[in-house]
Parts: sequence; structure tokens; C-alpha cells
Amino acid sequence: MQLVNTSLLQSSSFINNEWVSSAGTFPVFNPATGEKIIDVSDAGEAEAVQAIEMATKAFVTWSALTAKERSDILRKWFNLIIENTNDLTLLLTTEQGKPLAEAKGEVAYGASFIEWFAEECRRVYGEVIPTPANSKRMLTLQQPIGVVTAITPWNFPIAMITRKIAPALAAGCTVVLKPAEDTPLCALALAWLAKEAGMPAGVLNVVTTLKAAELGKVLTTHPLVKKVSFTGSTEVGKILMGQASSTVKKMSLELGGNAPCIIFDDADIATAVKGTIATKYRNAGQTCVCANRILVQKRIYDSFMKAYTEAVTQLVIGNGVEEGVTIGPLINEEAINKIKRLLYDATEKGGVITMGGKQHPLGELFFETTIITGCTTDMLLSQEEIFGPVSAIYVFEDVADAIALANNTQYGLAAYFFSENINRVWQVAEQLQYGIIGVNEGLISHAEAPFGGIKESGYGKEGSSYGIEEYLVTKYVCIGVR
Ligand code: NAP
Repeated sequence: MQLVNTSLLQSSSFINNEWVSSAGTFPVFNPATGEKIIDVSDAGEAEAVQAIEMATKAFVTWSALTAKERSDILRKWFNLIIENTNDLTLLLTTEQGKPLAEAKGEVAYGASFIEWFAEECRRVYGEVIPTPANSKRMLTLQQPIGVVTAITPWNFPIAMITRKIAPALAAGCTVVLKPAEDTPLCALALAWLAKEAGMPAGVLNVVTTLKAAELGKVLTTHPLVKKVSFTGSTEVGKILMGQASSTVKKMSLELGGNAPCIIFDDADIATAVKGTIATKYRNAGQTCVCANRILVQKRIYDSFMKAYTEAVTQLVIGNGVEEGVTIGPLINEEAINKIKRLLYDATEKGGVITMGGKQHPLGELFFETTIITGCTTDMLLSQEEIFGPVSAIYVFEDVADAIALANNTQYGLAAYFFSENINRVWQVAEQLQYGIIGVNEGLISHAEAPFGGIKESGYGKEGSSYGIEEYLVTKYVCIGVR
């Protein structure tokens, strides 16, 4: 990996604007080649506490700046990220595996949250409430909640970070971030750029570690922490929720999904194929909003499957740095084993693999683009996140069947459907129990829109005008007047 700006490759935790080494280190690998990129500091409890204390100290001055002053620093940070797009893109592909074009898209998408919240923080308004008594005046103030800890996953090593820390910093909070062990390098590069942009010491801290559970405990229970923002699996989210309850911390939980993607018989087939490919195969199927279950209405099953199979055939598997590659490797061996386990279970229960189904000869972490038909609700892949390039196809008869099938999960993050009938569009959008609905569209996330799930996919919103509210407390002031 040859970066132009070599300072972006850092390997220590970032605390109080200093690079802090720990006693131990852990290796970060390129999933496409298996080569080690660099050894990174394995921070422990002491570094986590130090970061929280530094963030607490910095909160006093950072929260006292005007919104415009914070906005200016965030804007400089955004500009620097854009200026360093090519290096960040390469770093992202090297540690995470997604193709360069997708990585470049993530840099722009990730940066867009910094730009958006740099603007949004200047529009945080309190309210004057009409008084019920002439002897009183009532109003609300919106104030930053305090020190925020953020724990993020590996599948979007830039965007999952900026979606939470940009609104937190914009609101006036300070942050301690723990990125995923597979992808800490983009987080450290973001921290380097934040310092360059003039972010004061202690405002943004990053602790890298292999000891996720140990540090997670500190980050969710330390009394100086006022808010925890987590993106990751529902399983870990539940643990963190339990831990944070000991001090009643405010939380945002962006957890797992099990997105249905419904192709109704009045869909435009070309639009449905394009949208389904976009949501299913982005990041090799490793996104929380990936179509996990593709439900096709019986009447158009043959025509949709013919066009869809042709489109999947066009996808190109390979090392993400190579020209023309559209599907990179999976993140680790565990991910490969999970897909094998789910496909084995599904075929045992009657599923038929019509394309792919095996590890790809390119290397240990590559998996063939796969289609499995005849899927049913008793299969594990109908209940768990597949998180790989596997299309699981189900057939349904009518709208009621589709809705029942789609809502038959504890998750409620994203759902998609394709229909050209405006009545059906309204009815189905209202009946799907999900926080995000894509209609005739497979790519739904933008800084301007509220992203977040319901049910066991969590709560809280990222992006949009709602995103900053997660980091604010509403204080009610009642003034007696004579
Ligand atoms: P994960 O295993 O839950 O890990 C997420 C983060 O939590 C990582 O930083 C991880 O550290 C850390 N962690 C793991 N165990 C922990 C513990 N006991 N205490 C504290 N922290 C702990 O999830 P993942 O495999 O990285 O990411 C995939 C999951 O994220 C999927 O379920 C996906 O749907 C979900 N996701 C949701 C959204 C959304 O917006 N709703 C977006 C993206 C991903 P290590 O990496 O060191 O283990």
C-alpha cells in the first residue's frame, strides 16, 4: 500500500492529541491477500480511562465554543478528508476489502456527515413555550450531553464512525471511539486529520484494542461517560445495554438487520433487478441493510429470476484494488464459515443452489456470488444475517403473504420493495415494521435522512436533523416574573 500522505498510516491509540502506545500490539491484515499491514497498539483499561478523563477535561472548553466555532473546525476536517480521498480510499480497501470504487463512495458518504453536522449544529434551537400563567415564562435549552463513547464495526470503517462522532462533536460533546479490531486504521487516519483541522486536544480520542469486552465495559460503565453510541450486532448491543444501565446512560443502538426485499408482480423488472443487486451485493453482502431475504411474487418469478441471475453473473470477484472488481473478499474466516453453515442448513431443508455456493479459488476469504432458491422460514438464513454474497430467494402468492413473511423477524432495520402501483406503495410502506423503507430503490442512506432501526435492530437515528438530538439534552427552564 503506497500512500501519498504517509502520516495517515498510524498504529497507536490517539489520546489528548497524542499517539499513545500500549504494552502489546495486534496485527491488522489485508483480507484480500492475507498480508499483515501493520501492528497496532492493543490498549487496555488504563488507556480507556485516560481517554475518558481527557475527554471530560476537554468537554469544558469544547462545549463552551460557539456552534460557529465548532462548525468551522468540522468544516476544515471535512475539507481535509476530501483532499485525502485517494489515500483514505486505498487504506479502506486495504484493511476492509471493498472495491476501490465503493471505498471512494464510502469516503464521500462518511465525510458528508461531517459536512452536514457542521451545518446542522448552527440550527440547534430551544423553544419558548406559551405560558399558562402570567407569573411565569417557560423555555427549553438544548445542551450537549457530555462525554460520548462510540463503538463501531468493521464493515464501514469510516462511515460508521463519522455518522456518530460528527453529530456528537457538532453538538459540543467530546468523544472516545473504539473502532473494530479488523479495521482500526481508517479511524486513526480520521483522528490524524482531525488534529490537522485544529480539533483541540481531548475532543476526539481513539483507543485501538483486541480486548473489546474489557474496554467495552469501561466505556459503558464509567461514571464520567454520559452517552454510549454503538453500531454492531444485536447480540453485543444487548450486552452493552445491560452494562450502561448501571449508570442509566443515554444510548443509541444501530444493530443487526434482516432486510426483506419484495418484488411484487407489478414491479418494473429492470428497476427491481438493479435495486436488488445494489442492496444485496454492496460490500460483498456485508451491510446491515443488505437484502437478506429476496421475496418474489409467483406470477413474475421466472422473468425476475432470469434477469436477476444474468445480472449476478456480471459481478466480478477479486482483490478490491484491481480494475473492474465489484465484489471483494469477506472480512475474516468466521464470515466464510458462517455462510457455509447457513448454506448447508438451507440445502438440508430443501434449498437449491442455482449459482455459486462455494469458496472462490482466488483465496481463503473469497466466496462465489451465490443464489439459493426455494428458501423457507425454517432455514437459519431466514433468521440470521447472511453477511455475504448470497441471494436467498423466497416465493409468495399475494400482498398479505409478503407482508407476513417480511415482518416475521425480530429485526426491523431496512426493508425494500418494488411496485409501480401507488396504492400498493402506500399500503406496503405503512405495514412493513422497519425503520427504513426503500421503494423502487436499493440505496437509501444519506446524511440528510434519518437512519435507524426498530425492534431488535435498536433505537436512535443517525444523519438528518434527528441525528444531533441523540447528543443533546433538553433542559426546561421556568422563570418566575413579577
Ligand atoms: P460486533 O461483533 O457486534 O462488533 C461491533 C463492535 O463491537 C466492534 O468494535 C467490536 O470489537 C465490539 N465488540 C464486540 N464485542 C464486544 C463486547 N463484548 N463489548 C464491547 N464491544 C464489543 O459486530 P461486527 O461483526 O463488527 O459488525 C457487524 C454487525 O454490525 C452486523 O450485525 C451488522 O448488521 C451490524 N451493523 C449495523 C449497522 C446499523 O446501522 N444498524 C451498521 C453496520 C453494521 P471487535 O471488532 O474488536 O470485536
